[in-house]
Amino acid sequence: MSTLRLSGLKKAFDGHPVLHGIDLSVRSGSLVALLGPSGSGKTTLLRVLCGFERADAGTIEIDGRRVAGDGLHLPTEQRRIGYVPQEGALFPHLSVAENIVFGLPRAQRRAQHRVAELLDLVGLPESYATRAPQQLSGGQQQRVALARALAPSPGLVMLDEPFSSLDAALRVETREAVARALAAAGATAVLVTHDQAEALSLGHEVAVLWQGHVLQSAPPQTLYRRPATRELAAFIGEAVLLPGTVENGRAHCVLGALPIQQGAQADNGPVDVMLRPEQIDVLPESTQRDGALDAFVRDITFEGQDAALTLQLIDANTTVRARVPGYRTPREGERVRLAVGGEVSVYPR
Ligand code: ADP
Ligand code: MG
Repeated sequence: MSTLRLSGLKKAFDGHPVLHGIDLSVRSGSLVALLGPSGSGKTTLLRVLCGFERADAGTIEIDGRRVAGDGLHLPTEQRRIGYVPQEGALFPHLSVAENIVFGLPRAQRRAQHRVAELLDLVGLPESYATRAPQQLSGGQQQRVALARALAPSPGLVMLDEPFSSLDAALRVETREAVARALAAAGATAVLVTHDQAEALSLGHEVAVLWQGHVLQSAPPQTLYRRPATRELAAFIGEAVLLPGTVENGRAHCVLGALPIQQGAQADNGPVDVMLRPEQIDVLPESTQRDGALDAFVRDITFEGQDAALTLQLIDANTTVRARVPGYRTPREGERVRLAVGGEVSVYPR
């Protein structure tokens, strides 16, 4: 287990800044999901951490020991970092076992050091050791790539979009296996992804990288409920944003006087009110409930498990988005009543 601390990390290519001063701490034994859109600098950050690229400024510390910064640039092999690259991770001409021991010293390579143990750790049968990578599914290949990264018992493991090429069903299964293996190995991990569901479900902490800046780093539920800015709110899932005002600790908007997230800064004055579509309960027209609002269903996007609705409020010239379980999808044009559950975030205007 290792701790990782970055401070003011910068990197440019040909004068074009890619990382603008990254600060990030990763607790020992935890998994940080680094979430960002394509081109935000995720791979560059991992490559700088691993030592494949040299930082232009800033420092990197592993277990309190500086590995980069102020002219220092320790080579990759002295950083004890395991790396699972984005694509083409395995050598096609080597067996699974040979792939796993590839980076180890010769004697350990000959002895197929810990191959059975590592296969077990990533949830694959020992008999796969002699197979060629092509004889495995995509998810199984990713598990072998992780086994290879874990073979030298690194303190830190970096994974670059390890599930992006897998189809939906395999992705969930593989990411659970990978999370289990990382926890069992006691590794501290940084997992890069552009998939917010993946980041929220896997990360103990999620750091959002946007155009080379870390905009917020927080536990998943905090990030989802209390995103630091409107833009982040819309990036992490879907956001309903409504103009309003804060008065006496409540957010007043067309949906009523709503309670504000605990711990949020909420001074009186004009704000944008943010809530999530699933916080809007869509009830039958006949429902009698304090504060419920009349609306009709303007538009439906049915997605199976749930459905996204556009609702027109009757007493205000406003539409809002709601999300309901698929089996409760109303009809288009139907009259309904709305009630808001949970707390909202506010952003001063
Ligand atoms: P991500 O992994 O988030 O998609 P990258 O770190 O791969 O983002 O890339 C971030 C930006 O840096 C992109 O604009 C990319 O073109 C640029 N970039 C990455 N590597 C290099 C390189 N070796 N030379 C020049 N530009 C690069
Ligand atoms: Mg990348």
